[in-house]
Amino acid sequence: MPTINVNVVTPDGKVYDGDVDMVSVRTVDGELGILPKHIPLVAPLTVGAVRLKNGSNVEKVAVSGGFVEVRPDQVTILAEAAELPSGINVERATEAKNRAEKRLNEIKQDQIDIKRAQLALKRANNRLNVASK
Ligand code: ATP
Repeated sequence: MPTINVNVVTPDGKVYDGDVDMVSVRTVDGELGILPKHIPLVAPLTVGAVRLKNGSNVEKVAVSGGFVEVRPDQVTILAEAAELPSGINVERATEAKNRAEKRLNEIKQDQIDIKRAQLALKRANNRLNVASK
């Protein structure tokens, strides 16, 4: 069975490098499933889980925005932040979630602060989902 090489890279370094049967990413236009020999493309990513499928095994990586570059034999995910389940501090993500929810309840007018708190909440929920398997 053909495989495709996937790299997940952040400003802090490489988070994942491996060959998989299929990878799916969350782009701003929706979920994108990528098999070997996919047509080349570049797309912006939203906060979401990258799913790496190998047979019946699925690994997840929490990604907080960035870009995906697809080539027929290689997928590069340039993420603002990315963590494997083992790298996620659940306590920290729970605190970030509580903080963001509190802010959203307090903020009345400031649209920039609302957007910032909503994004922080998305990042925290994404990390908690990926960490919980
Ligand atoms: P926090 O408010 O807890 O900092 P955040 O969503 O604002 O959360 P980011 O700006 O997305 O954090 O990430 C900053 C750095 O911290 C990145 O390197 C990211 O991988 C890491 N990071 C953030 N939250 C966690 C977490 N819960 N577990 C492990 N690493 C985390």
